[in-house]
Amino acid sequence: MWIDNQHSCRIRDMMFGINSLVELDSKRKVPAINFDNAATTPPFKCAMEEITKQLLYYGSIGRGEGQKSEHTSDVYINGRDIVKDFFGANSDIYTVFYTNSTTDGMNKLASALIENREDIVLTTRMEHHANDLTWRERSKTVYAEVDNKGRLIIADIERLLKKYGGKIKYVTVTAASNVTGYVNDVHHIAKLAHRYGAKIIVDGAQIAAHRAFCMLGQTPDENIDFFVFSAHKMYSPFGGGAVVGLARELNKHIPKFYGGGMVESVCDNSVRYLSAPDKFEAGSQNYPGVVGMLKAMETLKYIGFDYIRKHEQGLFRRALDGLKKLPGVILYGDCDNFADRMGIIIFTLCGIKNEEVAKFLAGHRAIAVRCGAFCAHPYVRRLTRPNKKQNQADMLCTPPEGMVRVSFGIYNNEAEVDCFLEIIKELHHKIFRVNKC
Ligand code: PMP
Repeated sequence: MWIDNQHSCRIRDMMFGINSLVELDSKRKVPAINFDNAATTPPFKCAMEEITKQLLYYGSIGRGEGQKSEHTSDVYINGRDIVKDFFGANSDIYTVFYTNSTTDGMNKLASALIENREDIVLTTRMEHHANDLTWRERSKTVYAEVDNKGRLIIADIERLLKKYGGKIKYVTVTAASNVTGYVNDVHHIAKLAHRYGAKIIVDGAQIAAHRAFCMLGQTPDENIDFFVFSAHKMYSPFGGGAVVGLARELNKHIPKFYGGGMVESVCDNSVRYLSAPDKFEAGSQNYPGVVGMLKAMETLKYIGFDYIRKHEQGLFRRALDGLKKLPGVILYGDCDNFADRMGIIIFTLCGIKNEEVAKFLAGHRAIAVRCGAFCAHPYVRRLTRPNKKQNQADMLCTPPEGMVRVSFGIYNNEAEVDCFLEIIKELHHKIFRVNKC
């Protein structure tokens, strides 16, 4: 396991493109600082190399008879076990189908699992739109609330499960928020869901590259039924992702996404579909995306999640401490008790629009952050106006103003955090002189 600063330098050396120069407002060229890892991460060099290597033996998957086709099919099919192993799903109860992203995976899953508009799905007000609209547009959706610090209220999940008396079919919840970085105890939620006869789906987009995740719980009732994630947030290029899910359940359903590769036979008036995972993978496969993802998983395991967690929490604490000391900074989420938060910080700066903050960071020091409402509008509204009734926003359906988000990856370092804090300080001085804010 890698546990000291020297290793932090070695990890930077493992990243592709982080030293590429970009142009500042002053026209000077510097390497960019990426604090937008919750959106997407730079790839590992070894993932790029592995893709190039495997493409030397690239052929069609599952269709051709040639040696290259056979090799490609083997890598692709055996990769399902690597994904299962990475997410602690070493059991025959699970299978894996590849996707292009979390959004793609959630939509395919929802299109298969939801049988009619009256099916009831319990989701939460913490979700990314990919785990909200996906269900909202297909089923009757009920929402568990968050508290005024933005934490998910687990008791509200249980209240709803009780209220609907066994009629909730699915509970779908994020393992970690892309806005506040709160990590949810999804195994406990699984236990509740199962107690009331529901299956649990977990949005793993944010957890996958930052915490070890295990589909199997301490006891079978804590097992996760479906887990959906994106590879581009875990240091792999070219999209990609997968759904790990219960083979038996997947075999009962079919996604509303049709084409070649998913059938055994098609007659004029009848179709015989293959079983899962094939029937969830219509069309030609994103082989480079799969190869990159498998290599990225191997590399993350090699680095070790103990190191990753410790390193990212160190950056989080340093940035948070620094921001707390700066006048004019308004922080959101719980910034005193943050043991359940990952490396994501959200803030606004008094007297200046979020877009201006992001532009200033980019223009003055090539620091990339995200601003806005992070595809989680209901959640962001609750964080910025915790005591307001939400129906007021509903009438006009205007987007929330949002915040600025910094999110860390394994290759970021303390010098980058300090540089970010300096620029925020500089910006605040500038505004203060103008606005006396
Ligand atoms: N869920 C969460 C929690 C996310 O952070 C994201 C991406 N920001 C998504 C879903 C959607 O992922 P993708 O854009 O890769 O489909």
